[in-house]
Amino acid sequence: MSNSRNLHLGIEIRLREKSRKIEDENAVLRELMRQDMTAEPDFADQASTASSRDWNMIRYNRNIALLKDIAVALKAIDNDSYGTCEMCGEHISDRRLLAIPSALFCIECQEMVDRHPGEFGRTGLGDGMSAAV
Ligand SMILES: [Zn+2]
Repeated sequence: MSNSRNLHLGIEIRLREKSRKIEDENAVLRELMRQDMTAEPDFADQASTASSRDWNMIRYNRNIALLKDIAVALKAIDNDSYGTCEMCGEHISDRRLLAIPSALFCIECQEMVDRHPGEFGRTGLGDGMSAAV
């Protein structure tokens, strides 16, 4: 029992750390995008500026989505089911949870879900399953 508590504590600390790093990165990205918007157009530089601006935007948006996932995960951590695969009940690896904080399935079950899109709802045995009966 204390074991699962410790696992949660470990992942919680790492998710908070990750969240802080992402917020720092987004502050830098916001500044870069602001500079890009006010920068004088320069022919020699235009192409590279455009592509780096796109890249910044993509990264920024991805970070925002990740921050939302982390916020949801941090709320869910109080719940003992966090980090447990909804399909097989096995512990989802910390590595996977750090990459995808909102992961509901372990990697094996996720692969199965991915192979059968539409058969499983987002929470596992969802609407698709009962509709098929
Ligand atoms: Zn599983």
